Amino acid sequence: MSEFGSPLATAEPMLPDLFNHLEASCKPVIAAINGLALGGGCELALACDYRIASVNAKFGLPEVKLGVIPGAGGTQRLPRLAGVEIALQMIVSGEPIDAEQALANGILDSLVVAKNNFLEVAVDYAKTLVANGAPVLSCADLNVGTHTLPDDFFDAFRKSIARKTHGFYAPECAIKAVEGACEMPFNEGLSLEKELFTDCLNSPQARAQQHLFFAERAANKIPAIDSKTPTRKINKVAIIGSGTMGGGIAMNFINAGIETTILDLSAEALERGLGVVRKNYEISAKKGRITDAQIEERMNLLKSTCDYSDLGDTDLVIEAVFENMDIKKKVFTTLDEVCKPGAILASNTSTLDLDEIASATSRPGDVIGLHSFSPANVMKLLEIVRGSETADDVLLTAIQLAKTIKKVGVVSGNSWGFIGNRILEPYAREAVRLILEGASPAQVDKVLTDFGLAMGFPSMIDLAGIDIGYLVRQAEGEKYYSRDPAYSAICDRLCELERYGQKTGRGFYIYEGRDKKEDPEVMELAAELAKQHGVNQRDISDQEILERTIYMLINEGAQVLEEGVSYRSGDIDIVYCYGYGFPAHRGGPMQYADEIGLQTVVDALEKHRGSLGEYGEEWFKPAPLLKKLAAEEKSFKDFTR
Ligand code: NAD
Repeated sequence: MSEFGSPLATAEPMLPDLFNHLEASCKPVIAAINGLALGGGCELALACDYRIASVNAKFGLPEVKLGVIPGAGGTQRLPRLAGVEIALQMIVSGEPIDAEQALANGILDSLVVAKNNFLEVAVDYAKTLVANGAPVLSCADLNVGTHTLPDDFFDAFRKSIARKTHGFYAPECAIKAVEGACEMPFNEGLSLEKELFTDCLNSPQARAQQHLFFAERAANKIPAIDSKTPTRKINKVAIIGSGTMGGGIAMNFINAGIETTILDLSAEALERGLGVVRKNYEISAKKGRITDAQIEERMNLLKSTCDYSDLGDTDLVIEAVFENMDIKKKVFTTLDEVCKPGAILASNTSTLDLDEIASATSRPGDVIGLHSFSPANVMKLLEIVRGSETADDVLLTAIQLAKTIKKVGVVSGNSWGFIGNRILEPYAREAVRLILEGASPAQVDKVLTDFGLAMGFPSMIDLAGIDIGYLVRQAEGEKYYSRDPAYSAICDRLCELERYGQKTGRGFYIYEGRDKKEDPEVMELAAELAKQHGVNQRDISDQEILERTIYMLINEGAQVLEEGVSYRSGDIDIVYCYGYGFPAHRGGPMQYADEIGLQTVVDALEKHRGSLGEYGEEWFKPAPLLKKLAAEEKSFKDFTR
């Protein structure tokens, strides 16, 4: 993969030529597969005449996840061997299959169940083939069986994946390549595959998806910490608070086979919390993802208590109680008293100062932030917050732990909102301010979903609850409103009218069951409030909406980077793609900025700064790092600390 985009990628001999050469050999070639055959490895196996594998082998063509399609014959050989349906499924989803499925679908000729002596068994298999005069079996000589396919097979397939692949370029190219395998002779199919592969490889989407792939791996590296530092053993975990987050976080640990205890204030709260966990598993079991026996196995790993003295032998505690500093500090003081030396004390806080929380203990080195995203058992991101005194081995343990519970860990400094919620703030501000200036919630949503976000801001806040931010603003009072009383005016008024969003059936939209429709009263309200606050209402272009929301993420991201809250721009991109529904095919806000050019972002910010009067002057100053890199014609990727 690291050869993509370099001269090595086109150096002779090219992989497809090598495989064609192998396939043309008059001597049968056997692939013996004792592990992962993914991407090029899978394509190599497909170019052989026979395939034998051990039970732990896996087969897959994950190229689509990197914004490309298989480019060494995979799209032409797999349909010939496994049939169109399986091939299409594998190539378009990028998901691997196991050896038994591969055998059932004609990809494998022989499966070795015994776990030892695989090579010996494979050599015996080869000898038997030779003894039986086995012929060469080139895929090139096979035709794709299409006679059983319905006429609308490809169209129906396109429709079935449309929602999932919306905005992505490579899946459609993969479908076209497989269509080619059905309609064209082998060699022409290979040429089509090459054309489509090159097309994908040169697209911004491929650059974006490959950036994310490498960023995910780079996120584990922390400057100035020796990665060989021994980490702490985590065999027993406790979660404080069995609410929305506590239950989901507990699931992550019991899914990984780690004994977990949930503590809450009352038996009723615990019963409700554990009930939600069980229900989540039952839903998964109904969908066939886990068995009933697995539910019991996992629930047996989950204990509950109201008594802190039960946590004495816990290796890691994650606090997920109400977002209130006094309550959190009390919890941490108690944990300090009851937990054994060396236990890691973590908080799931979204915004509060981790150092202040740590100050409630006598061991701030053991305190760290482990910020999960809702729903915690589903979302891939884990923001790991490094306090000013967090010990190196605690940080490394947290990074390792993220992998154990199948999350992607990103380290953030201890700044308000950490990486994600901090850069969300100016984006959210602009989304609402644009409505005050005359855009409709539906227009704002559409611009953002057309860009590729899972949800626009008005819909997102309707889902999360408009009241949450309102309560924070009310608590801050004058300090908050003195900066700009207008931009939160609509949200405040909606809350005063008890329109909190989906939970009250009305917010920026009106909800009836699962349907939502536009609420004309919101626009009337916006007009009234705009007048009251001296804000000019006008027609707003989609481009302005895009620049004032997405470019705000970029500008604040630059600030986060410059302050050292984040180590590298890729970390911010991972946070946004895995925690906030930013489209992977854009690679995150910082990668998107690198793609369109930093000067484009600076110019747009300056334009709005000039046209929005005092408001523009207050909020649209380009971040110094953004300006500097743009002036040097550099990108965020070039910035390292
Ligand atoms: P919640 O209100 O659903 O649950 C909080 C639970 O903590 C309740 O069950 C309550 O009984 C219990 N609790 C309160 N005080 C306690 C104490 N002193 N000891 C033991 N238990 C106590 O809250 P939530 O949404 O799960 O949020 C928990 C934390 O996670 C907050 O810090 C929040 O900011 C953070 N967070 C929430 C989300 C989200 O989307 N809900 C996302 C990320 C982070």
